[in-house]
Amino acid sequence: MAAAQPLDLAIVGGGLAGGLLALALAARRPELRVGLIEAGDRFGGNHLWSFFDGDVDADGRALVAPLVAHRWPGYDVRFPGLSRTIDTGYHSIPSERLDAALRAALPAERLFTGTGATIEPGGVGLADGRRLPAGAVIDARGPGDLSLLRGGWQKFVGLHLTLDAPHGLTRPVVMDATVEQIDGYRFVYLLPFGPAEIFVEDTYYSDTPDLDVPAIRARIAAYATARGWRVAGEERIETGVLPVISGGDFAAYWGAGGAKAGMRAGLCQPTTGYTLPDAVRLALRITAAPDLGQAALDRLTREHAAAAWGARGFYRLLDRMLFGAAAPAERWRVLQRFYRLPAPLISRFYAGRSTLADQARVLMGRPPVPIGRALKVMWR
Ligand SMILES: Cc1cc2nc3c(=O)[nH]c(=O)nc-3n(C[C@H](O)[C@H](O)[C@H](O)COP(=O)(O)OP(=O)(O)OC[C@H]3O[C@@H](n4cnc5c(N)ncnc54)[C@H](O)[C@@H]3O)c2cc1C
Repeated sequence: MAAAQPLDLAIVGGGLAGGLLALALAARRPELRVGLIEAGDRFGGNHLWSFFDGDVDADGRALVAPLVAHRWPGYDVRFPGLSRTIDTGYHSIPSERLDAALRAALPAERLFTGTGATIEPGGVGLADGRRLPAGAVIDARGPGDLSLLRGGWQKFVGLHLTLDAPHGLTRPVVMDATVEQIDGYRFVYLLPFGPAEIFVEDTYYSDTPDLDVPAIRARIAAYATARGWRVAGEERIETGVLPVISGGDFAAYWGAGGAKAGMRAGLCQPTTGYTLPDAVRLALRITAAPDLGQAALDRLTREHAAAAWGARGFYRLLDRMLFGAAAPAERWRVLQRFYRLPAPLISRFYAGRSTLADQARVLMGRPPVPIGRALKVMWR
């Protein structure tokens, strides 16, 4: 059975990149019939996406501002030899907000959840046998074949907890690396949602993608106890295993398919694994494109992603330093050194927009890893 009217654009994958693109098009190109197809029961899955002020410009802020549930004017970092407050705003988006915004912005007959889709010439095939003809299709189905990339892993378990008394934090702690170092670089990430409500995430920059959820849960419980917090309830758990990319073949990762967005297009900050800044930029770029036919969209997204990949060799070099030159238990030293740098440089780093001067500044001086190994990594 064919849909009554063909779509102008079908977005396959209603996660962060697909969802933001659909929202941006609904706001800026309302004349287009955009459809969004998501395999899961709701758009966005089970996520909390955070970003820094410097990650999005004014246009991007207009797109994401209605989705933000928590915002703070600054954040802290803690290391064995450094405690610092950085006055850069930090924001968090729960995925339910993305789901609600999409349902408010697009007509129900163009939103599909609970159905996987295949990308076909001229449209999309749904798992239930329906076919959605479309002028163009964009693939936003999340990570592609990560085995084509090299690097390590950032893996984590996060718990949204209610405590029986105030925790006393007013700002996020983006990295508390004063914890015992296990399985590579380990830090705890804290988001104070309310006086007695907190999100506690235990994160590892590890050589392996295995995630031992019960062991990490136990470490979160121990962390809470050590801070004198008594847990009254657990609202939500979230887990993640993200690539920390140190190399790979962009063309092979992109593959033979057409237009792509999000992680499917390899669009992430290689060191942090964050994709939100890129997802916003690509969404805005697509909404401004005069031609959204398949061939033009294929070309636009590929050129955009290839340019981002080409410009990010610096971050991949840092990742090789982190994983190749620093012994796992010493990786925290690289981060501690980084967080001594000026706040605007840190902000551009997160946004994936480090200048050449920033790059020189990060690499300057005596590296906090064995010099011979650092040189070998840089030479490679
Ligand atoms: C737990 C977690 C927390 C994260 N936190 C942050 C953060 O704070 N900030 C940040 O910038 N990044 C964060 N990231 C990293 C990254 O931004 C997210 O993974 C982001 O969701 C990637 O966006 P995406 O659109 O590429 O993929 P996804 O958001 O994963 O979206 C892909 C969607 O496609 C759907 N799909 C797959 N196959 C099909 C199919 N055949 N048909 C239809 N639908 C399909 C999936 O169900 C999924 O919903 C986090 C990642 C995780 C896992």
